Amino acid sequence: MESSSSTHKEAAVADYDYDLFVIGAGSGGVRAARLAAMSGARVAVAEEHRVGGTCVIRGCVPKKFMVYASEYSKSFETARGYGWNLGETSFDWPKFLMAKDDEIARLSGIYVKNLQNAGAELVHGKARLKDRHTVEVDGCGVRTAAKILIATGGRPWMPADVPGIEHAISSNEAFHLTELPKRIVIAGGGYIAAEFACIFNGLGVDTTLVHRGPNILRGFDDDVRSFVTEEMEKRGLKIRLGSRIANIEKTASGLASTCADNHVLESDVVMFALGREPYTEGLGLEAAGVEIGENGAVKVDEFSRSSVDNIWAVGDVTDRINLTPVAIREGAAFAQTEFFDNPTSFDHDMVASAVFTQPQIGVVGLSEAEARRKHGKVDIYLSKFRPMKETFYGGQQRALIKLVVEQGSERILGCHVVAPDGPEIVQMAAIALKMGVTKPQWDATCAVHPTLAEELVTMREKYAAPALGQVA
Ligand code: NDP
Repeated sequence: MESSSSTHKEAAVADYDYDLFVIGAGSGGVRAARLAAMSGARVAVAEEHRVGGTCVIRGCVPKKFMVYASEYSKSFETARGYGWNLGETSFDWPKFLMAKDDEIARLSGIYVKNLQNAGAELVHGKARLKDRHTVEVDGCGVRTAAKILIATGGRPWMPADVPGIEHAISSNEAFHLTELPKRIVIAGGGYIAAEFACIFNGLGVDTTLVHRGPNILRGFDDDVRSFVTEEMEKRGLKIRLGSRIANIEKTASGLASTCADNHVLESDVVMFALGREPYTEGLGLEAAGVEIGENGAVKVDEFSRSSVDNIWAVGDVTDRINLTPVAIREGAAFAQTEFFDNPTSFDHDMVASAVFTQPQIGVVGLSEAEARRKHGKVDIYLSKFRPMKETFYGGQQRALIKLVVEQGSERILGCHVVAPDGPEIVQMAAIALKMGVTKPQWDATCAVHPTLAEELVTMREKYAAPALGQVA
C-alpha cells in the first residue's frame, strides 16, 4: 500500500485539536480511545448512535439475552423430566424487552463512563473526513487530529433486487419487535440467521429458515454443520435448504414469501440475514485518500494502518475477522503501537468463535476440510453422544465433539464442540491450541468427571468415516 505521507506537509502535533480522533464508539474504537487517553493523549470519539456499537446495542449482547430467554423452553422440558411440576409456562415478550433495554442502557452507560474516566471526549454525531487530518461532525463542527482511527463497524446488507424487501427486517429490528410474531421466516444460513432462527423457535415462534446452500454455516466443519442442522430440526425448527426468497408480498394475514421454487411461506415477520457490509458510506474516505476494497472495507496493513499514514482502521470496517474480541484486540494493538511506543500487531491465527444456536457451537482452529487442504493427512477423533443430562429423562438432544489432528506432528489443528455451553468449553481448548498442543499432551490431561467435556480427553480411537453406501 502506498503511503501518502511523503507528499503531505505535516503540521506539528500540537497544532491539531486532538492527538487522536476515533470515529465510532463500538468495541474496537472505545478500547483504542481509552488506552490512548490513558497514555495522556488528547482523544475524542465520535458516535452517531448510542455508545457501545453493534456488539452492545444491536448485536452480541442483546442477542445473548435473547438466547438465554429462548433456552428456557428446553429447560422446562428437562425440568419436567427431572421431576419438577411446572404447570403452564408462558413468555412475556414486552417484559423481556423492557429488561433487555434497561440492561443495554446500563452497559452503554458503563462504556460512556469508562471513556470519560480515561479522559476521552465524546462527540455525538455522524463524522466525516474532510481531509486526512480534519473531521466534521454533524452538529458539532470541525475538528482536527494528528491521528484518526476509523472504527465504524458494519451494518446488515439487504438485497435490493428482491421485490418486497422493504417488508423484511434485519437483525437491527429483530431486537425491537413490538410483538413476538407467531410465525417468522428467516433468510440466510450464516451466524445471524442460524442464531435468530433458534431464538425464535425457542420462544415458541413457528420458524422457517431458508438458505440457498446445501447446508447452513458455510466455513464451519461439515460434520458440525450437518449435526447442528439435525439437532435444530429436532427442536421443531424448519430448514429449507437449496432455496431462496425471491419475492415478498403483504397479504391480509401477514407476509407471503415466494421461494425460487415457487413454494410460498406465510409469516408475520420476514427477516433477512444475508451478511453484513463495512459501514464506510458517507465517511468521506475519498476526501482523505483512504483506499477501500471492493466490498467497501478499509484496506489496512498488519498494524491496522490504512493507505494514509495517519489514518488507521480496526474492527468490522476492515472485514478481517468480524468478531468483537478481535476488534478489541486490534484497537488495543493500535493504541500500544501508536501511544505506548510498543509496536504490536494482533495475530489473527487460531481465533476461537461461537455460534449461539441451540445446541451451541464452539470452535477453534481448522475444519477437517481446511486441515486436509492446508496440512495434507490428518486424523479425526469424533464423538456424537447423548449427554447424561439428556439420557436421564429420555431427552434426545445430542452433543458432538471433534478433534482434527495433523499426522506426524500430532498437533491438534481444530477442536469443535456442539453442546450446551460448547463455546465455554472451547474457550479453554483455545488456549491449548494456540500454544500448539499435541494429541499426546492433550490425552495426558486427566478427565473432569462427570462432565460432558471429559469426552474431549478420552477419545482414543481414530474416526473412520463410514464408506459410501454404509451411511444410514
Ligand atoms: P454470514 O456471512 O455469516 O452469512 C451470510 C449468509 O447469507 C450465508 O449463509 C450466505 O450464503 C447467505 N447469503 C449471502 N448472500 C446471499 C444472497 N444474495 N442470497 C441468498 N443468500 C445469501 O453473515 P451474517 O449476517 O450471519 O453475520 C455477519 C458476521 O457477523 C459473521 O460473519 C460474523 O463474523 C459476525 N457474527 C458473529 C456472531 C458470533 O460470533 N456468534 C453472531 C452474529 C454475527 P452462503 O453460505 O451460500 O454464502
